[in-house]
Amino acid sequence: MTAPLVIAVDGPAASGKGTLARALAGHYALPYLDTGLLYRMVARAMMEAGHELADAQAAGAVVSQFDESAFSESGLRGREIGEAASVVAAIPAVRAGLIERQRRFAARPEGAVLDGRDIGTVICPDAPAKLFVTATPEVRAARRHRELAGRGEAASLEGILADIRRRDARDSGRGDAPLRAAEDAVLLDTSALTVAEALAAAITIVNARRAG
Ligand code: C5P
Repeated sequence: MTAPLVIAVDGPAASGKGTLARALAGHYALPYLDTGLLYRMVARAMMEAGHELADAQAAGAVVSQFDESAFSESGLRGREIGEAASVVAAIPAVRAGLIERQRRFAARPEGAVLDGRDIGTVICPDAPAKLFVTATPEVRAARRHRELAGRGEAASLEGILADIRRRDARDSGRGDAPLRAAEDAVLLDTSALTVAEALAAAITIVNARRAG
């Protein structure tokens, strides 16, 4: 029997990793987990309970009790919640409280695709295929701008670029599981690629890894 295929897709905000990970999951017929949603759920639960986002004790309690089925994805995609997620994601108790459910997902017998910031480094360090997806901050801001406009959320391009730079700095600078490429990850810069081109490049990388 061949080993299950686990694909770890990491990268900064709006790098295209979510689109790519979802498309890879479709291509290889694997289940897909967007781990950013988990941090967004914790942030949402903290906000609804009236806690300060940086309150580590409250965040630890929230994450130990939280129920994924209580959230709708559409309520988690906005600009403000992404920023809030990156604040709670820097709290070690939050990260620790979310590790098991991510690893359980990755351990499915058929394999899995997970995307996030620390999949290749912390959650699935033994994943056979790891991608680190990047794009320039300007390209990422333009993508996020289009995505938010499509959802009817108006925001200036400059404001979004500032958000992206702040989020990059917070995600890369935190002490626990900072955003960085695993040593055995393949870098994929999507700045000048269409979605179809990025997917084709990613499939080539995964197939090469699979072939050993
Ligand atoms: O990927 P997404 O933008 O939905 O992630 C929201 C925030 O959640 C990120 O900015 C990051 O701080 C955090 N996150 C994380 N580790 C992951 C996934 C997301 O720290 N595996």
